[in-house]
Amino acid sequence: MYNTMLNLILFGPPGSGKGTQAQKLAEKYELLHISTGDLFRHELGNNTPLGQEARRYMDQGKLVPDEITIGMLRNKIEAHPQVKGYIFDGFPRTIPQAEALDKLLAERGQSITALIAIDVPDEEIIQRILLRGKESGRSDDQDEKIIRQRIATYREQTLPVYNYYENQNKAYTINGLGLVEEISQGLFQVIDELSPC
Ligand code: ADP
Repeated sequence: MYNTMLNLILFGPPGSGKGTQAQKLAEKYELLHISTGDLFRHELGNNTPLGQEARRYMDQGKLVPDEITIGMLRNKIEAHPQVKGYIFDGFPRTIPQAEALDKLLAERGQSITALIAIDVPDEEIIQRILLRGKESGRSDDQDEKIIRQRIATYREQTLPVYNYYENQNKAYTINGLGLVEEISQGLFQVIDELSPC
């Protein structure tokens, strides 16, 4: 169906279900799932210098500086050159990250196929994240103040990324309320209607 790689960005506020859906997409379309949040948590878990640096921002609901995040993403992509495509989850979160990603892919003769935003209202998000925090013990998910800060960071720094890809005619939005399975179906439908790039 696709002559080249299928490179997707799953976009949306914290707690919108990106991680859950990205796994399903990775399986169905045989893509490499890259979650910058998971990569940071892995570094944190191993208490690496990168993890220690990232923790200072994550625990305040702020973004880790672009140069750190972009460097980490570049390493991940370079470590997996032979894939059918990538699904980016939680990246890019700023315009400089989007520009860096486009450049990184262009150097490989590739590009982003589509950005798909999962639309979920704020009130629902806060409830979901608090529940996730209780179940997972994730520290940035347990404090309503940090969660509100993450939503504010998303509005200020991340939402412009949607317009950046909309200007390239690559942005789509799906409804993020409902059963996990229904939301997956919404995503499959958008992806299956994309013309090969
Ligand atoms: P969320 O559920 O809030 O979307 P993630 O698991 O994707 O959370 O990320 C958790 C934290 O990791 C973020 O609040 C941020 O501090 C940091 N982080 C993740 N991805 C990025 C990124 N692309 N740029 C900067 N910081 C990031």
